Formats: sequence, C-alpha cells, structure tokens
Amino acid sequence: MSDEILSFEEAMEKYDPVLGFEVHVELNTATKMFDSAPNEFGDTPNTNITPVSLGLPGVLPVVNGKAVESSIKLGLALGCEIAPVSHFARKNYFYPDTPKNFQTSQYDEPIAANGSIDIELEDGTVFTIDIERAHMEEDAGKLTHMGGSAGRIQGAEFSLVDYNRAGVPLVEIVTRPIVGAGDRAPELARAYVAAIRDIVKALGISDARMERGNVRCDANVSLMPKGSTEFGTRTETKNVNSLRSVERAVRYEIQRHAAVLEAGEKIVQETRMWHEDTRETTAGRPKSDADDYRYFPEPDLVPVVTDSEWIERLRGELPEMPAERNKRLKTEWGFSDEEFRDVINAGALEPIEATVAAGAPASVARKWWMGEIARIAKEREVELTETGATAETVVELNKLVEAKKINDKIARQVLGFVVDGEGKPADIVEKRGLAVVSDDGALSSAVDEALAAMPDVADKIRAGKVQAAGAVVGQVMKATRGQADAARVRELILEKLGVEG
Ligand code: ADP
Ligand code: MG
Repeated sequence: MSDEILSFEEAMEKYDPVLGFEVHVELNTATKMFDSAPNEFGDTPNTNITPVSLGLPGVLPVVNGKAVESSIKLGLALGCEIAPVSHFARKNYFYPDTPKNFQTSQYDEPIAANGSIDIELEDGTVFTIDIERAHMEEDAGKLTHMGGSAGRIQGAEFSLVDYNRAGVPLVEIVTRPIVGAGDRAPELARAYVAAIRDIVKALGISDARMERGNVRCDANVSLMPKGSTEFGTRTETKNVNSLRSVERAVRYEIQRHAAVLEAGEKIVQETRMWHEDTRETTAGRPKSDADDYRYFPEPDLVPVVTDSEWIERLRGELPEMPAERNKRLKTEWGFSDEEFRDVINAGALEPIEATVAAGAPASVARKWWMGEIARIAKEREVELTETGATAETVVELNKLVEAKKINDKIARQVLGFVVDGEGKPADIVEKRGLAVVSDDGALSSAVDEALAAMPDVADKIRAGKVQAAGAVVGQVMKATRGQADAARVRELILEKLGVEG
C-alpha cells in the first residue's frame, strides 16, 4: 500500500527540509582494496575473488596503495584536511553479501575530513555544502533476488550472490546537515551528486558510471516546522543510483514526511528503498544513531600514514576541477551566463569543447550542438554524442559553409545524411551534387526562366520596387533545390533588369 503524501508546495509552506548525503564512489583501481583480485565490472560471477575477498580463515589483507592515493586526491579536491594518520576499523554485521561478516571501513579516523564544495544549480544559484568526512572502505558483494517482482527480495524465490564486487575500493563522502535549501532541495540533491560524479571522473579515480553503481547516494531527509531550528527525525533512502532518482527520492521523502507530520504522527528513523518504477520509497530497516556495529580497530592492517611531501605531490597531480574548467571555458568561448548554462544543461559542453579543439569557432560549435544536432537527438531520443554527429562533422560542415560550397540550409541537410550514416560531409556534398551553384552560366538560365515565369514581378522590379526581387530569388532557389548562391542570384536579377541594387 502506498504512503500518504502531501503536495510538494504545501509541504514547503509548512516545513524546511534538512538534507544529508552519503555518496559511495567505487574506485577504478586494477585490484581490490585489500587483495589482488581484479576490480572488474561485469565478469562472470564469483571469478574475481581470492581467499581474502571471501574472508576465509587465516587470510591477511594488504591495503591497496593506489586506492589510498585516489582517496587522498578526492579529499583534496573536496577541500578536506588529509589525516597524518588514519586507521581501518571493522564494522560488524551479518548479511550474505559480506562474506567476512564485517566490512572493513574507517570509523573515527577517516583519511579526509572538513571540506566543502560549491554547488551551482541550473539557474546559477550557488549553495556551499560542507563535507564532514571522506573515508575508505570496501564494497559488499551483489545479491540478485530471483522469482519476485522488479528484483525485490519480497516475494523472491531464491537469491544469488556474486562476490566479484566484495572488496572493491570505495570512498564514502559524508556531508554535514544541509539547511536552507528550501524548495530547491530536490534540485540541490541532484546537482550535488552530479558534482561529485564529475569530480571523480575528472580525477580519473572512478569510472563514475552511475548505472553501474560506481557512484551511489544515500539521501538523508528530515523536516523542521517553518521557523524551527531543531532538526527533525531523518530517513535515509539507500543506494540511489541515478541523478533523476536522487531528485525524485528527495522530493518524495519531503512530501511523505510532511504528510506524516501533518497527521500528528512521528517519523520513524529508518532506511528507505527507492523504487524508480513506482516512484515511491518503501521502508527498509529501522536504524538508530546508536546502531551497534561494534566497530573496533582492524588488527590486521597497519595505520595509513601520510606525509606532506606525498600529499603535495598528489595535490600537484590534480587536474583542473570541473567548476574551474567551466569558468575557463565560458571566458574562452565568450558565452553569456545563460548561454553557458544552457550548454551545460543540454550536455553539450564536451562536444563543443571537442569541436573547438578540432578547429571550429566556439559560436559555430554552439550553434550546431545546441541547434540542429540537439533537434536530431531529441527526435531520436538519444544523447547528443549518440546521434552520429561528431566534432569533425561540425568542423567539416563549417568549412564547407565558409568556403561557400554549401549554404546553411544545405548544411543542415548534409548533417541529416551524415547521421543517417552516408559518410563525411564533403563526400556527401560531392556524391549527391549538393554544392551551391554560383557560376553565372548555370544561374543565368535559371534566373531567365524565373523572370519569364513571373512577368508582372519583373515589371515591378523594373519600376524600382527592388524588394520584389525576393520572390524571384525564391523561385530560383526552388528550381535549384536550394543550391543556388542566393546573393549572386539577386545580383543577376537586378543586372538583367537593369536596376541598381
Ligand atoms: P549513518 O551511519 O546513520 O549513515 P552518517 O553520519 O554516516 O550516519 O550519515 C548521516 C548523514 O545524514 C550525514 O550526511 C548527516 O549530515 C545527515 N544528517 C544527520 N542528521 C540529519 C537530519 N536530522 N536530517 C537530515 N540529514 C541529517
Ligand atoms: Mg553512513
């Protein structure tokens, strides 16, 4: 049975939301966090395992140095302090996806803490989100529930477990409570997770493919009655793994909390599960702040000790961060705030960057990717980069237009043939005979024919009504299937009628 929910607008009139995000990032190291098993997605189940992955008796884990470096880089990118010494701890719980019966994680001494990140929403509003900590841990295996509906455990007949993911390196990034987002809360949730995804992608430390679970968000939500500053009871919606779902889940939980509170009832502190099919959350397990995981220091792993030389070397290796890159590109390209935001929201930044790098002016790249290519992408319901148009396509089309070989209209047609797989623009123009006709010989007879077909218009022009030439130009363009050089056609018309332009 579905829960009662209040409309989002009504919820916002009465309550202020408080948010908190725990984002798990899977690192793309060659091997796992504590053993030599390959860290590879999609392999045959239970092949990327060692006795350590399975937690067999007597095994000893070893920390993956590369994973530590990736974690430090991420900490630095989030403006965190890097701990001189940090420890691993055992988080004890039983679940079949965790073969050791504990997860090796970090507890009170995380590798990185006290950072912050600025998040820009689609309209340019900026929220600063404080990062409490980023700690290293390992992923669990993957359970697949069979025989039930939509992969849920409820109603399943049996479950399969794949330990390939058990022990994959994770960094968990935990924010401090976020107050003041108001009705922008769902949007902020999405933008925050997108920002983390873009940062780890830029750092090259994760494949950052959300559909594969490389970046997953636990979204904590609570409400305070308007005017109050005391946090309400939170729920934690687990493992949301698409940007759209994060936004929807936060919105839904706000609406559900509001309905519970309006009915005079109490929010149960629990985990929730998001279901994209029904766009609802359902109750998971009760979770108190004092959950007894019996954390204790991991006795089989040495502390992670960092020194400033190491940290500074890693800082020096940090690439330009997405936010800085955006600022730089906006200036280099000379786009307005609004133009640039539209480009980002349309997912056209990378294509435009590649097109500019391939030799087209930024304004031309923007015109194509935000115009005709965007139209094709929308029509075919695919991403811009899945249309078949590339940076080279745009550069070539632009060269043909600049050289006056084709006009804008024909260029759009040629693009259509390119995305239909006919080849490269120049070859298509050649093969289909689409080049603009600008040699006077060919145009002259077309103009003669048009004038002969429109004698009254010709008279008007002769009498000095020069703007009437447009109709004749149109006729010639039609007759030449748009391939005539319109400016030259106009000149020829006036010449033939003995009128000054
Ligand atoms: P847990 O172990 O329960 O997951 P964490 O400390 O790892 O707890 O994460 C809790 C997250 O919830 C943090 O991002 C924190 O800022 C946030 N949070 C804490 N209290 C609230 C609250 N009342 N409402 C919303 N978010 C909260
Ligand atoms: Mg947590």
